[in-house]
Amino acid sequence: MPLLSDVIAELENLWPAGRAESWDAVGTVVGDPDQEVGRVLFAVDPVQEIADEAVKLGADLLVTHHPLYLRGTTTVAASTFKGRVVHTLIKNDIALHVAHTNADTADPGVSDALAGALDLRVVRPLVPDPTDPAGRRGLGRVCELDHPLTVRELAARAAERLPATAQGIRVAGDPEAQVRTVAVSGGSGDSLFEAVRAAGVDAFLTADLRHHPASEFTADRSRGPVALLDAAHWATEWPWCELAAAQLDEISDRHGWGLRVHVSTTVTDPWTAHAASVRPSPAVPPPGSATRAPSATD
Ligand SMILES: [Zn+2]
Repeated sequence: MPLLSDVIAELENLWPAGRAESWDAVGTVVGDPDQEVGRVLFAVDPVQEIADEAVKLGADLLVTHHPLYLRGTTTVAASTFKGRVVHTLIKNDIALHVAHTNADTADPGVSDALAGALDLRVVRPLVPDPTDPAGRRGLGRVCELDHPLTVRELAARAAERLPATAQGIRVAGDPEAQVRTVAVSGGSGDSLFEAVRAAGVDAFLTADLRHHPASEFTADRSRGPVALLDAAHWATEWPWCELAAAQLDEISDRHGWGLRVHVSTTVTDPWTAHAASVRPSPAVPPPGSATRAPSATD
């Protein structure tokens, strides 16, 4: 069985910590480099549910996309929810390793996995990493579709291929517009709007879009309309867990390590329910309701 330090060295090759954003907190959070690793669990969020799942599975290493502590802390007391995670992991000899923005920009990275889940052909990074002479690393991906789809059909494909969440897929723009090229970015993508417009794509699939940025983006038709598809943050990053697990499997085979590599299917998106609107739009009042105020029975 390999030591944690052996496995971490390989993870560091895939996602070097030095390629993470300066504000990020990646790398090994918990773990003794000399402990043996036989079983590994990949997940998006280092939350208690996932730590409990790692214990149940008998994992020796948990690899997550999101950091546990992003801004530093002065306590890991088990009375705090993050401290409870730390206690659970240490008591059960489970290491925690994080690959966040260094996995976003990797080749292959988080957005390659997202594009792959939707059967999109990756053409190039949306925001290339200037330090990569091959031009393959960077944030987001610009992709082509084999056959054009309407925005509505692309949203349906995303809803079908990404793991189910309460949110589903929200669309901004004309649902019947044709999509031949689409930019994708796993996680919060509204900081990439300028690059999306410059890329000249027909649509942008990402997560966490807000009213004002989305409203202004869809109103600006200076370079033609670009539809927005907004999925749950967790759902856009989860495909990376499968990609990363396959990469570690391949490394394990190469070294003859015999690692057992798992991907958590626990939905850790914070949104747990969605109520579709049923009240008629105020712009189209139902017959006979235009002149009366809403009553308690409405
Ligand atoms: Zn994220």
